[in-house]
Amino acid sequence: MIELRTPAEIEQMKAAGTFVASVLEATRDAAAVGVNLLELDALAHRMIRERGATSCYIDYHPSFGASPFGKVLCTSVNDAALHGLPFDYRLRDGDLLTVDFAAEVDGWVADSAVSLVVGTPRDEDLKLIDTVDRALEAGIAQATVGNRIGDISSAIGDVARAAGLSVNLDFGGHGVGREMHGDPHIPNDGRPKRGLPLRPGLVFAIEPWFMLGTDRIYTDRDGWTLRSADGSRAAHAEHTVAVTEDGPVVLTARSS
Ligand code: MG
Repeated sequence: MIELRTPAEIEQMKAAGTFVASVLEATRDAAAVGVNLLELDALAHRMIRERGATSCYIDYHPSFGASPFGKVLCTSVNDAALHGLPFDYRLRDGDLLTVDFAAEVDGWVADSAVSLVVGTPRDEDLKLIDTVDRALEAGIAQATVGNRIGDISSAIGDVARAAGLSVNLDFGGHGVGREMHGDPHIPNDGRPKRGLPLRPGLVFAIEPWFMLGTDRIYTDRDGWTLRSADGSRAAHAEHTVAVTEDGPVVLTARSS
């Protein structure tokens, strides 16, 4: 079901967006060579408690998950593309890390992700991160009244194609509101002028994620982490966006 939010509700949702952004900033700033993924998760958990927020991940147990997620962050390293389950791993020089975080504040959810390199970056990793960031910006720019979901999807797919990357359509953007995942689904590629018309009050996560060498994934033995089929690296960028009469509003915009 597609739900539309009033301008007052979108105002309320900004608290969740600001909090999610602050957790991504803090975990991004803490991520460094030698830091354990479990320390990043603990940092986010502390911030959740201090804010009186609720994690969307810790009890998350969809049909494709082996058991409840049990952590508050997704930390996807190198060939891990999505849903990286934090484990006892110290980040190494040159690791490509994606942190994905969703939380509920005052009854509203926000969802966002950022990719970065710890230590010395490889050029191709910086390029991949730049590509997902640009795809996210291109998608957000299409989130205007009168456009359709396909305009967002095709803008994302165009950026991938121009970078020589193929797109996996198994996971994409999604409605965000009282729950983390709702309608509409927003594939990371598609045809312009097709799909649901965008109306004021639609709130959704736009989340391009691309892999350097393939569009195929498999599930790690941990039952959660999705890795590239060929071991190539992956990056992911995500914001929660509201469609308004005044254009797209990025609820999870980071101040740095
Ligand atoms: Mg997310």
